[in-house]
Amino acid sequence: MFDPCGNPQTISKIFPIRETQVVLDPGHGGKDPGARGPTGLKESELNLKVAVAAAQLLHEQDVPTLLTRTGDYYIELDERIALGDAANATALVSIHHNAPIAAKSNKPGTEVFAQTGDTESARLAGLLHKEVFEVLNSVDGIEWTSRWDAGALRVVNSKGGDAYSLVRKPQTTNALLEVAYLASPSEGTFMAEDGYVQLVAAPIAAAIKTFLTTDQNGTPLLERARIHNPSGGRRTCPEVELE
Ligand SMILES: [Zn+2]
Repeated sequence: MFDPCGNPQTISKIFPIRETQVVLDPGHGGKDPGARGPTGLKESELNLKVAVAAAQLLHEQDVPTLLTRTGDYYIELDERIALGDAANATALVSIHHNAPIAAKSNKPGTEVFAQTGDTESARLAGLLHKEVFEVLNSVDGIEWTSRWDAGALRVVNSKGGDAYSLVRKPQTTNALLEVAYLASPSEGTFMAEDGYVQLVAAPIAAAIKTFLTTDQNGTPLLERARIHNPSGGRRTCPEVELE
């Protein structure tokens, strides 16, 4: 092929985007590590491990699945979105682990964000929340943290649009999962243990499989959207992804 100056170039590798059923998006990467746990574990690394394990489980169930990144490198939000849309996927799920500061809770603070006005996005978010929350809630001995409005919900900006571009922009039915709080001492220590990745990958894969093969809904979407307040001093992990 020719480069923009008209000089011939040989391409040694190409990565055609094949059609797929599911795109998993491990949040952050490279220069953007995301949250950090009490053991030093980077959110970007944990998100990737969980996404790889969930993709493996989906492959084993004959659900074709692509990852937006496969290593510790930076990728723009718009590239992640474009990949999901170009792959003509049925579901795009962004995987995150949350940062600071939520109140002590006797339950996990799992949050899944859905796209406004898309009932299939609400269904995907509800199923992810139900499955992931139930598994985490069955683990004994964790001091959880949570916001009062945790659950399956919409997060909107002051104009009423979805606050996170990864939720707002994709044509693909999508949801953004915040598994729990990596930055909280007890949760973050648990997340660095052997077995955590497989423990949480299983309900993610199960929720997606249920989304694709049934019309179940999972956790109902909260009626009231959370108003995102970037200057409110309450930083949550995906805030860096705002435009
Ligand atoms: Zn994040």
